Amino acid sequence: MLEKRTQGTAEEETVSAHYALLLGIKAPWRVQSARLDLLASKVEIAVEWDETAQVCCPECALECPRHDRARRSGRGGTDVMQFQTIIRARVPRSRCAEHGVLTVRAPWAEPALALHLAL
Ligand SMILES: [Zn+2]
Repeated sequence: MLEKRTQGTAEEETVSAHYALLLGIKAPWRVQSARLDLLASKVEIAVEWDETAQVCCPECALECPRHDRARRSGRGGTDVMQFQTIIRARVPRSRCAEHGVLTVRAPWAEPALALHLAL
């Protein structure tokens, strides 16, 4: 696997994998890092999109060129073990010939829909 970034410790890697599983994050998304803040009872998860992956229009699910990436930060749908889950990601936007520029739906925001689109 090609890695441009410096990898964290083995422990950090395990935590990232754990949250990826918990939030249903899978390719082309990946958990870049997970930062646990015990005092504030929150966990901040940075998710990144595989640059080489094809972008699909969220309306018609057709493959489109990637327009750009929108910076997104939000609360995760799942609070884990009473920890507030904050997910930070740069979500790609598709440029569909019919529907224009739209933000690709994130799997952690709408799991059922993402699953539907993947079929
Ligand atoms: Zn479309």
